[in-house]
Amino acid sequence: MKSLPDFWFEPHLWVNGEWVRAVESLDIRNPATGNVIARVSMADPILLDRAVHGAARAQKEWGESSPFERGEILKRVASLLSARKDPFARLLTSEQGKPYPQSVAEVEYAASFFQWFGEEARRVHGRITPHPDRKREYLIEQRPIGVAGLITPWNFPLAQGAKKIAASLAAGCAAVWKPAELTPLIALAMAPLLQEAGLPRGVLQIVPGIGSQLGKPLAEHPDIRILSLTGSTRTGATLLSYAATGIKRVTLELGGNAPFIVLPDADLDLTAEQLVKLKLFVSGQVCVTANRVFVHREQEKELLDRLATRMASVRAGDGLEDGIDAGPLIHHKACQGVGELVADALAQGAKLSVENRSFETRSEWTRGSFFPPTVLSGVSDSMRIAREEIFGPVIPILTYTDPQEAILRANATPYGLAAYVYGSNISMCREVARQLEVGIVGVNEWRPLRAEIPFGGVKQSGFGAEGGLEGIQEFLNPQVISIPRFEL
Ligand code: ADP
Repeated sequence: MKSLPDFWFEPHLWVNGEWVRAVESLDIRNPATGNVIARVSMADPILLDRAVHGAARAQKEWGESSPFERGEILKRVASLLSARKDPFARLLTSEQGKPYPQSVAEVEYAASFFQWFGEEARRVHGRITPHPDRKREYLIEQRPIGVAGLITPWNFPLAQGAKKIAASLAAGCAAVWKPAELTPLIALAMAPLLQEAGLPRGVLQIVPGIGSQLGKPLAEHPDIRILSLTGSTRTGATLLSYAATGIKRVTLELGGNAPFIVLPDADLDLTAEQLVKLKLFVSGQVCVTANRVFVHREQEKELLDRLATRMASVRAGDGLEDGIDAGPLIHHKACQGVGELVADALAQGAKLSVENRSFETRSEWTRGSFFPPTVLSGVSDSMRIAREEIFGPVIPILTYTDPQEAILRANATPYGLAAYVYGSNISMCREVARQLEVGIVGVNEWRPLRAEIPFGGVKQSGFGAEGGLEGIQEFLNPQVISIPRFEL
């Protein structure tokens, strides 16, 4: 059993390079046990304003600093994070619940964004373009847009922050980071690390707080030039409306309803193995997880048997213990929500194939917010479970008779974030992938995300890209200077 590491930071706001107490605070619980692990200060609009002002003061110098220096700082952050993988992963598991190996993977994934954007910082190029008057020319420069407001969710509390922070700082934007109120500890743990890496005071402010209280003042603050949110589609729409008043740039990474299409020639052992991994990853609380599994009706039984064997043998429990495949959900309300979707599906004719209650073997987990890894067959498109984001370790199986029909049904959702296609004929897989209205497709791959590629959705899954060459562009504005040519 791994223990919760001693904190190397204070559970308060990180404003202008100092720990600042707030009047309000919130208990942070380990979702596996229900135990309170810390009481964390929650910012009010006045403290938020102080943080934004601090970032605005730091902006000028940071924006004019050498991209090489910014890159070096970010790459040092990557090295420090890699070196401190273990305490960061233990903290992450303690407040978020995911099994320790998944937390280690998240720390590494977060570090890869600091490394990638640390390298990208010096690849922001301008250009010179001819002017019709031969004595003049156009200089086109990429300028940092200004202070960024970054809002992140609780499912990947470190990695979602890392993506946004690394891109904004690389571009020369100071930032104010509001982590999710349920998982602020890992965000605060970054403060001393960023300082040790050489980040000047005030360039990143970390202000845990309640989203519904801070969203409006953050979005409407005149010093904020861009808002970047990862969260639910509902929150995205609200933030967008706040941002409209001040014509702020916004990037939104929102909810999904990913189809997972199993083509008739798919390797069913590989498919079952990877689908179970995908659905147990953060216990299905992931916007890119498979939400609807489409299998050819003649292969339903074969796939179901394989999935049932695997899902029945996994172990759900406290992620700080060895050998745990699935952690708890974030809180009891989340369990209730997933339970309602399953109950609705069963009431409408779906069949329960597996319900793994292995977490009940231990009395200390009875207060935890566990949901049993579940497999449902006989799910239809009209059921709530196929229309809404499940956010739990439930595999819903839907059948099709013709791949073209599966594609049409896969696209019949307002969301468009991720999709998965499993099959042996790669040309066919590619053809299916091209017809799916989503931002990213994994062909025979359950986790296609990396720092090197742009990630983002279409339709109500949002807009804007994180990662790749595109990620840094979100934080830049072209400025054109029309100027007489320099004559020797
Ligand atoms: P989830 O339903 O997955 O918790 P949310 O969209 O509620 O997703 O939360 C994602 C992030 O958005 C969190 O940091 C949360 O505090 C924040 N948030 C929630 N409501 C608002 C809002 N009205 N304005 C800005 N941010 C918000």
